[in-house]
Amino acid sequence: MILCADIGGSFIDFAVVHPDGRTDHRRAVPTPLDDAPAFIGALVALCAPWPGVPLHIAIAGVECPDTGIIRAANIPCLQSLPLAAHLQRETGRVVRIANDADCFALAEAHFGVAKGHRNVFGVILGTGIGGGFVLDGRIVPGLGGVTGEWGHAPVVIPPPALHGQDADSTQSLVPLFRCGCGISGCLDTIAGARALERLHLWAGGAPQTSRAILESWQAGDPQAGRTLAIWLSYMAAGLAHVINVTGSTIVPVAGGLSNAHALIDALDEAVRARILTPTATPLLRRAALGADAGLLGAACLGLDIRIQD
Ligand SMILES: [Zn+2]
Repeated sequence: MILCADIGGSFIDFAVVHPDGRTDHRRAVPTPLDDAPAFIGALVALCAPWPGVPLHIAIAGVECPDTGIIRAANIPCLQSLPLAAHLQRETGRVVRIANDADCFALAEAHFGVAKGHRNVFGVILGTGIGGGFVLDGRIVPGLGGVTGEWGHAPVVIPPPALHGQDADSTQSLVPLFRCGCGISGCLDTIAGARALERLHLWAGGAPQTSRAILESWQAGDPQAGRTLAIWLSYMAAGLAHVINVTGSTIVPVAGGLSNAHALIDALDEAVRARILTPTATPLLRRAALGADAGLLGAACLGLDIRIQD
């Protein structure tokens, strides 16, 4: 068994996870955000009844592969703390840490809808977008600890300046929004639930929740139709690139927007129309593990399973 913690900006979810994916001793405690000793203390206390048992952590952040320092925008107390090494010293147990979106993809590859697939790109469509890439049952480590972040790079951008003219953001077919990562024009600026609402406003729609926009779209409302046409076009283009590059044969989708079945079906169809290898089989599939994905993915860290052909 493995001790697992899924750490977000609000709660630390904790469980003992067994090799077959069963969980017990589930607990949730508030995440200490501004107090590093309290943060460490909370994890030490959760693990105390199982001395020597490894602790695996899924976190809403990125661990630098060189320094072990965690970059987690919502958990400021982790700044400059090499968390795994610190916890290992403090508790005398093996500690492994990975990004929570990577753990989600890993969990779906081992226990969920992507079981049996070698190349798995997991997508989270929530308030923002995220992703994780799993190859042969393992997370693919990336530059600076980052892999699968398909939402962040400027793609929604105005055309370049021509004939000595300055680039003008008003020439863009879609709005040029500044992203939380500091770059302007990321796919994330139009992709998640909040971004969809802002995109709808920009396209001339009324202030509405993403759920209401999607309901209007399904009811045939032309304004919502325009918003979703823009959304689907950019999202499908982004995902088609990802699939061409990663060779993913399945894309588990989680997050709030994944509950909109018609949206995921439409995105799947649009993606399959844009990739190099046409396939009649849906690539986008709703994730199977729900809120357990972080814990279950953390449990799979360090496993060296090669998926058999
Ligand atoms: Zn960004």
